[in-house]
Amino acid sequence: MSGESTATGDGAAPAVESPPETALDTARHQLKQAASHVDVDPNIVERLTYPAAVHEVTVPLKRDDGTVEMLQAFRAQHDSVRGPYKGGLRYHPHVGREECIGLAMWMTWKCAVVDIPFGGAKGGVVVNPKELSDDETERLTRRFTNEIRNVIGPMTDIPAPDMGTDAQTMAWIMDAYSVQEAETIPGVVTGKPPVIGGSKGREEAPGRSVAIVSRELLAYSDYPIEDTTVAVQGFGSVGANAARLLDEWGATVVAVSDVNGAAYDPDGLDTHAIPSHDEEPEAVTKYADETIGSGEILELDVDLLVPAAIGNVITEDNARDVRADMVVEGANGPTTFVADSILTEREITVVPDILANAGGVTVSYFEWLQDINRRSWSRDRVNEELEAEMIAAWDAVRSEVEERDVTWREAAYIVALSRIAAAHECRGLWP
Ligand code: GLU
Repeated sequence: MSGESTATGDGAAPAVESPPETALDTARHQLKQAASHVDVDPNIVERLTYPAAVHEVTVPLKRDDGTVEMLQAFRAQHDSVRGPYKGGLRYHPHVGREECIGLAMWMTWKCAVVDIPFGGAKGGVVVNPKELSDDETERLTRRFTNEIRNVIGPMTDIPAPDMGTDAQTMAWIMDAYSVQEAETIPGVVTGKPPVIGGSKGREEAPGRSVAIVSRELLAYSDYPIEDTTVAVQGFGSVGANAARLLDEWGATVVAVSDVNGAAYDPDGLDTHAIPSHDEEPEAVTKYADETIGSGEILELDVDLLVPAAIGNVITEDNARDVRADMVVEGANGPTTFVADSILTEREITVVPDILANAGGVTVSYFEWLQDINRRSWSRDRVNEELEAEMIAAWDAVRSEVEERDVTWREAAYIVALSRIAAAHECRGLWP
């Protein structure tokens, strides 16, 4: 599944004072920065700088030609003070241990910003899913599930889709786990197909929350939505759903892109006529009258830019070329730490991933509740409750922006860190 963040590179020899560019470096710097604004026990900040555990397994995969490949895989569990570990699993050739830890930290903050009772985790298999047949993907998924069976569970750690995985992957995990436990346990993963306990609206939820947050930001900044131009990088589940909703709500979506380039129309695209990644992979430019490069989309003169493809796309090298007034992060970690300070210096408003795309994990929480209760919710109920949760989170972050005169990212971290620190204070450290 596209539309979420990607590998950030690891293993480069760090130069003295080198800028933080890996997901883990960025996550740690953001934590440190947030901690400087909040009256929080430094011992708690120290605990939150590290993951509780990182599980590394080797998964033997029998290829269709009979050969066996050994694949490296991880599950990083960051913090569970507010509830079970929660976060996606990605299949990607550049997944790494450090990246999983950084992404797990972001999940901890994300769940706290929207105030759902989960902690943070992330995992992945080092593999290019595009090179696997369906049978190979199924065998890999079932064996990987078995290798991490002792560390996941509906009350301990609940995976979900992320880059390169989807509802079918979750169905195989749920089945493999349930077969071993000899009972049907839908709550072990979220993002499943609705027919086996998945939630209606889960697939669209991250894009829907990006659209909700964009709408609120536009209203807050006095930009009437019908006069607003938008560019969306990435047309996977996050980007396509966000673009289509903003289009429906009156915004002019002038450009959307995938890996091949961007469809561009200064008068506004018909976002429903462009196939999303799920509908027809990598076909955004196929039906477009005018196209531009996929990098160029970040530099368009629009009101709102939504990077919703992969991580680390707005960097030190191009942050000065961003011409949007506002950036709402659809992907996880699209803006590097250095780029973020350049955008702040240039007075470009950036609403962070941990707030903007948190609709995904919020509906995962609704799915988990539905699984526990063995009762499904209507799509309307899911969307109404998502709207309410997102507005509550938006209001909490907005209050911090107004009260402390900080950036939206700092404000979101302040909200998250305050809630997590309060839970740690209350529970204490044992022994
Ligand atoms: N992978 C998604 C994220 O990064 C969803 C996680 C979940 O639902 O647990 O937010």
